[in-house]
Amino acid sequence: MNAFEALGLNEKLVQSVTELGFENPTEIQQKAIPILLSGTTDFIGLAQTGTGKTAAFGLPLLQLIDEDQRHPQALIVCPTRELCLQITNDLETFKKHNRKIATEAVYGGASIMMQIRNLKKGVHIVVATPGRLIDLIERKAIDLQKVKYVVLDEADEMLNMGFRDDIDFVLKNTINRESTWLFSATMPPEVRAISRNYMDTPKEVTVGRKNSGNVNIDHQYYIVSAHHRYEALKRLIDFNPGMYGIIFTRTKADAHNISEKLSKAGYEIEALHGDLSQQQRDAVMGRFRSKHLQLLIATDVAARGIDVDGITHVINYELPDDMEVYTHRSGRTGRAGKTGICLSICHSKESYKIRSLEKMINSKFHKLDVPSGKDVCRKQFFYFMEKLMQADVSQGDYETYMPDLVKKFADVSKEEVLQRVASLEFSHFLKYYENAEDLNRNESRSDRKTGNRFEQNMNGSRKERTSFNSRNNGYTRLFINLGTKDGFYKASFLQFILDESNLKKEVLGKIDMREMNSWVEIDQDAAGKMIHAIDGKRYNNRTIRMNEADGGFKRPNDERGRNERSEGRKRIYTSRERK
Ligand code: AMP
Repeated sequence: MNAFEALGLNEKLVQSVTELGFENPTEIQQKAIPILLSGTTDFIGLAQTGTGKTAAFGLPLLQLIDEDQRHPQALIVCPTRELCLQITNDLETFKKHNRKIATEAVYGGASIMMQIRNLKKGVHIVVATPGRLIDLIERKAIDLQKVKYVVLDEADEMLNMGFRDDIDFVLKNTINRESTWLFSATMPPEVRAISRNYMDTPKEVTVGRKNSGNVNIDHQYYIVSAHHRYEALKRLIDFNPGMYGIIFTRTKADAHNISEKLSKAGYEIEALHGDLSQQQRDAVMGRFRSKHLQLLIATDVAARGIDVDGITHVINYELPDDMEVYTHRSGRTGRAGKTGICLSICHSKESYKIRSLEKMINSKFHKLDVPSGKDVCRKQFFYFMEKLMQADVSQGDYETYMPDLVKKFADVSKEEVLQRVASLEFSHFLKYYENAEDLNRNESRSDRKTGNRFEQNMNGSRKERTSFNSRNNGYTRLFINLGTKDGFYKASFLQFILDESNLKKEVLGKIDMREMNSWVEIDQDAAGKMIHAIDGKRYNNRTIRMNEADGGFKRPNDERGRNERSEGRKRIYTSRERK
């Protein structure tokens, strides 16, 4: 009997997972599926990303759903838009042979009208982020009365992000549920409180970590502005003259452009990306393996399967969104008992990812300062001098020229020779770094506190990302729940957000206005100030919501924002209770 069948899964689901190449259930699947299939048991699964937890709850849900009842029977709530899409995508593949079951992902930052239209068609399973779900409940666009199964995925993350009231609200609005399944990587008191308040003698299962870090790798990170990424990369390469490394980028355009720029500046680097033919790829890899290239720059997809010994450094030009991708990247170094370094260039708002990674790979990350221009020159100089001293002079006919050389340099001091060598070797470095600015930025306070949110991105590990991302070219893209329906046109909207935030027009990029919502590109250094000034304010009797567009970042742990949002929610409860 197939191992999935033995857990009680039906033939169609077993067929799907077999087609996906799953041979055996993971530990969480093994432990959770038989319990969840009962449909009436509350459940707590302490498991993190990468353990196979989506299938652990997704497969039983698909089996429990009554295909003929086209209304929401299951509700999965998760912290981020990326995770929401990932779960929906996984469900789609699991239900390949149960075509009648309809799922819908509802999350912020996308057209709510489209989501409402899809919900109206009748769906069985809704996967939602808390904010958007509550918008839909308020608009009466979703009926949760017949929801039997509620899954809270990454519950600790949702609480970290300030969704406590939202979760309460959702659980209070699903009074006919027969079971609640809670998945969380950790069990802080707030998560315990949810289980105490809303769950009935839940069965609890804990599984070990799948992704433990390699102890031979030193994880380091640097905080810089997004528009200083390239400069920081160059500095880190210059500061590590013996580096034999792979640089990872998210997009092939980045891989290509950076490789071109660094090659022009004299570095031995080539890019590996999806546009290369197999022959070109082999040629690049050949040069890298033989160390004719010091550096390889690649996207995750293009770097798949690369296995090169002796890599000293892996550099994340940008952090990936998916933790698994980070472990894949960093695992290119520190092999076969050797030590390696994995450097990540982050911007100030990404330190929460570092905290999550630390937790997940169970290893400390070291925050280092981007070296100053002087540090780089000093390092290069001593590296060269070290090489000079180690040069092998035992071979070769140097003796022949020595008497003449000694005569020629008779009046020149050792210091002067050293200075001249330095000048020859380092004039370009000294010149380049003469007025080098300090690239270091502070960690964003709220992120440092927030700790452990990590966006999972379905694109991150599966295909190269070419689309716009929320932090492009030094810009951050902000979402705001005001649009033309609120009586704005572009100029008046621009005036409004600038007046409210006391910022200058120059910090803004593109503005994209829709009926209900708008998106604003803003210099990443000014984004926090704008969110701080606007999020939570009232406009025409409505609470304005403003946050980073992709990833649903909501100024977690920012007391002002949280309190005002909570008040907003309380108002909703009151109006509901009055009805
Ligand atoms: P998750 O923890 O749900 O994010 O799953 C992590 C990854 O493991 C996903 O790429 C799944 O497709 C994969 N996966 C889940 N269950 C299994 C299994 N039983 N065998 C092999 N891979 C699996």
